[in-house]
Amino acid sequence: MKTIRYNIKKKRGKEMKEVKRSSRKLRFRWDRLFLLVVGVVAAVFLVVKGIHLVLHDEYKQYTTYNEDNKADFQTERKEMESDTQYVSLFYPTKEDDSEFQSLIDEYLKQYESLEDQDEMKEVHYMDYEAVNLNQRYYSFTFHYQMFDESGTLLKEEYNTLNYDAGRKAKMNIDDVLRRDYETLLNDDFTSLDGLNFRLLESGFDVFEEGNFASKKTYPYKNNETYLRLNDPTINANAPKDVIYPAKKEHDTSKKRIAFTFDDGPHYEITSQIMDAFDEYGGSATFFMLGSNVERYPEIVKDMAKRGFEIGNHSYNHPDNLIGASQEDVFEQVYGTNDLLFQTCGYDAKLFRPPFGMYDAFMEEHLHTTIALWSIDTLDWKSRDAAAIKENVLANIHDGATILMHDLYPSTLEAVKELLPILHEQGYEFVSMSELV
Ligand code: ZN
Repeated sequence: MKTIRYNIKKKRGKEMKEVKRSSRKLRFRWDRLFLLVVGVVAAVFLVVKGIHLVLHDEYKQYTTYNEDNKADFQTERKEMESDTQYVSLFYPTKEDDSEFQSLIDEYLKQYESLEDQDEMKEVHYMDYEAVNLNQRYYSFTFHYQMFDESGTLLKEEYNTLNYDAGRKAKMNIDDVLRRDYETLLNDDFTSLDGLNFRLLESGFDVFEEGNFASKKTYPYKNNETYLRLNDPTINANAPKDVIYPAKKEHDTSKKRIAFTFDDGPHYEITSQIMDAFDEYGGSATFFMLGSNVERYPEIVKDMAKRGFEIGNHSYNHPDNLIGASQEDVFEQVYGTNDLLFQTCGYDAKLFRPPFGMYDAFMEEHLHTTIALWSIDTLDWKSRDAAAIKENVLANIHDGATILMHDLYPSTLEAVKELLPILHEQGYEFVSMSELV
């Protein structure tokens, strides 16, 4: 037993020794392997890093931007890289304006899924130029360039984005220019479709889309008549105290009708008609004569402030505008819009030609929509509240446009009687623009 035990112990001792020996051998091999692996990994890492550095050096010119033309906008950068593209875009931010931010995000979207031209890797680079007019109008010119890997310019584009921080909305050319501005631009551009524009400190630029070389600069000075910009420092004809109308909310699921009043404003009746509509949170449209706008500017201002719609009905109600000279038509329509613009800062979007008579020229060449009616109350003829009321109730329908004149006490009386009845019938009183 003893011997056996000894043998076993001895054997165990041998086994252990053997194990120890073999483990020593093994560890030795692991060390060398470890060193080898570390060496290889380090080498590969350095090579990759080296290539990366070289590549990044190649792109370095696309990681900087011009800091001198950014007004007071902060600049951010979007960088993306794939096997086939390197994208580096500089763009403006205004953290306190989410509408503006989303407009920029929307603009950048076009660069998210750039199409590959071929096997070659392309570089897409964009810088921008900013103008900030009195913290009100922002104007950006984006300069986009596409290069091949050796830095050769393949494509170049200038695009503009204009923003009204007062209205918190993107600006179109119609937000900048008014009246017959085509007359101004037609001298320099054969087509007015898709024109790009941008605002500068002392004037504005216009150019054909994709053709920056066609750019023409128009100073604000001497072009006042065409400017819609409501900024006191820009020489537009807008009043210094532009009126921002109250917003009237209407239930769009309800039946809707538009009351329209022609030939005013009247020094007494117009305000009382507005009071009647205010009782129902209702709106209405007033097609005014320029000659009366001159007489009662305070009523027009009040109308704008209270959120009623301002319409154009010519300057002095000529018998027939059809066949009149272009000069006369422009004077009647734009002349009246000039008066409205100078009074409250807005042009009328709707034009109701006197007697509802118009021609193709008026449809095509006036920056307004021709606005007629579906129910003629003949209030000017009857001057009788009961007759007017009867006429309306007999013809009323969803989407109706009712023609009246804010000149007669009988019309005011009819309105006061009609509104509760029509309200009871489930009608909402909206402006004509809302109905259209
Ligand atoms: Zn009229």
